[in-house]
Amino acid sequence: MDACPLAQRLDRPRQNALRELVCVFLARKRFHALAGAELTPLHQTLIAMQASLPAMRQGPRALRGWREILVYPGEFKVRRSHHDDHSGVVTEGDEALIGEAWERGPLVLSLADVQLDLEQPWDGFNVVVHEIAHKLDMLDGSPDGVPLLPPHIQRRQWIVAFQRAFDHLSNDVARGRDTLIDSYAAESADEFFAVVSELHWSQPSVLRRADAAVAELLTAYYGPSPAPH
Ligand SMILES: [Zn+2]
Repeated sequence: MDACPLAQRLDRPRQNALRELVCVFLARKRFHALAGAELTPLHQTLIAMQASLPAMRQGPRALRGWREILVYPGEFKVRRSHHDDHSGVVTEGDEALIGEAWERGPLVLSLADVQLDLEQPWDGFNVVVHEIAHKLDMLDGSPDGVPLLPPHIQRRQWIVAFQRAFDHLSNDVARGRDTLIDSYAAESADEFFAVVSELHWSQPSVLRRADAAVAELLTAYYGPSPAPH
C-alpha cells in the first residue's frame, strides 16, 4: 500500500476491501510485457491497485469480461484509420498513446506513465484510472460516458449533469478558453467520463470547482476520493 499514494490514504476498511480486490485482479488478469518493458511483480501489484480503486464500490464483477494487460515501456504507436462519413475519405496515421482500453479486449499501458502517476499522484492525471473508467463504461456495451449505475444513482440525473458539463467544456474549448478540465475531455462523452474520473481520484478540488454536480455524482459512484484537500 505504501508505494501507491492513492491507496495509502484510504481508511482501513477501504484498504481491506482494496486488498481483496487486488488479489482477485492478480489471479484473474494476465500481464504481458511488450517491447522490452521491464515489468516487475511490484509494478504489476501497483497497476492492479490503481485498476481496482475505481471498482471498489462495485466489487470484482466490475472488472469482468477481459483478461489481458499489455505493458509497453513508454508511449506506443498505433495505426488508426478514420472514416469521414461526409467526404467518404479514410485517413490513416500513427498516433502515440499512453493507454488504451479495448471493448472486451486488453488494457494497454505505458509503464513510464504509470510510474509518473505514482510519483505525481495529485496532478489530476492517472492513466490506469482513465483506462479502467473506459472498461466500466463498456460493461453495458459501447462506451457512451454512462457506466452501469448502482441503484442509488439515477441514470437520468447522471445524463443531464454530464451532458451539461460536456457541452460547457466543449463550448469553452471551441472558443479557445482555458479550462479546468483537460480539453481532451471535449473529444467525446466517453473521454469526458474517463478524464473527470482521473480528476476525482487525483485532483477532486479542481473537479468540484469545474462542475460540482459531476463531482458529486462521481463521489456517489466511486466513493470519496483519497486525495488531500
Ligand atoms: Zn480515453
